[in-house]
Amino acid sequence: MSAESPTSNPGDGTRAVRAGLPEPVKHEPTLPGPVFAAHYHLPGDPTGPYVYGRDQNPTWTLLERAIGELEAPRQDDVETLVFASGMAAISAVLFSQLRTGDVLVLPSEGYNVLPLAGEQLRSYGVEVRSAPTGGDAQLDVLDGAKLLWLETPSNPGLDVCDVRRLCEAARARGCLVAVDNTLATPLGQRPLELGADFAVASGTKQLTGHGDVLLGYVVGRDAAAMEAVRRWRKIVGAIPGPMEAWLAHRSLATLQLRADRQSVNALAVAEALMGWPAVTGVRYPGLPDDPSHKIASQQMRRFGCVVSFSLPTRACAERFLDALRLVDDATSFGGVRSTAERRGRWGGDAVPEGFIRFSAGAEDTDDLVADVLHALSVATD
Ligand SMILES: *Cc1c(COP(=O)(O)O)cnc(C)c1O
Repeated sequence: MSAESPTSNPGDGTRAVRAGLPEPVKHEPTLPGPVFAAHYHLPGDPTGPYVYGRDQNPTWTLLERAIGELEAPRQDDVETLVFASGMAAISAVLFSQLRTGDVLVLPSEGYNVLPLAGEQLRSYGVEVRSAPTGGDAQLDVLDGAKLLWLETPSNPGLDVCDVRRLCEAARARGCLVAVDNTLATPLGQRPLELGADFAVASGTKQLTGHGDVLLGYVVGRDAAAMEAVRRWRKIVGAIPGPMEAWLAHRSLATLQLRADRQSVNALAVAEALMGWPAVTGVRYPGLPDDPSHKIASQQMRRFGCVVSFSLPTRACAERFLDALRLVDDATSFGGVRSTAERRGRWGGDAVPEGFIRFSAGAEDTDDLVADVLHALSVATD
């Protein structure tokens, strides 16, 4: 009887701490430091891998390998590209894949900068349709589409769509599918295994988790499509700095620890909110009675760190945010320090005035729940 090698099918934590690391070399560090280079020594014919700093960088190479291992651990043929931000990554897919006359299907309540990209594409003659994430409503507007854009769970509404079902429908129509995997992270959901052509994300949020780095990535399995994405990165130059790429790689080692604690905290906060009469519309895919729970359970392995809910008025929501002591009033989400904001202050999302997007950090669960309950009692007094 031969025992299976412990490295043949490692768990999430094991993969996260080792993702993308080079083979050990005597006297070399485990994770080589950032390579700061605008150009590389390049006598003779200009052949790769490292030619010019806008096109390639060894620090990106390791990070891209790491993200690829987390997004698609069972697929060798995927390619990963890192970008300066999530929007740079999203735009790279949209603008490299779509031409005048093509049809794009967006979620109607996705990340609030996505509609701006849609408007820009519309001005270039792309037909842009949108439909809600919940209920797989994007299926109804899919005929003739070239690219289907999914965001699940959606931000900030936390609706979930059935990625497998939508990918099958898209494939039958010759339509590509991209999934914004920002909220779930690759430890929460692996879109390529569910049938998507691209997993796209902002690494600014939980992937890096410390609120100090902007980053984005695209993982794809179609070589020609990824070549176009790579070409777009070269044209636009939306590249991450080596320091940001290295910090991001360093942060991946704790992704499983953070994601586990943060999803425990998010569920505890959601449950505490459910018991408070003035709170309405609590959404968290991990809550057994949440409308997203059934499909989320089929395709997600962790339910993320974001909880959304509403307080009766804008003033009440502001009092709540003001009374929190362990939770920073800040935008973005996914960091080790809890944050919350009144989402309506931006004007971009169709949400009530008292709508709060809450991002659970890595604090002790009891402390965080106590802080939330205290702030609720102050706000609704
Ligand atoms: C933040 C976010 C983005 C954009 O990422 P940046 O790194 O801020 O450019 C895209 N999609 C989702 C779902 C996000 O939350």
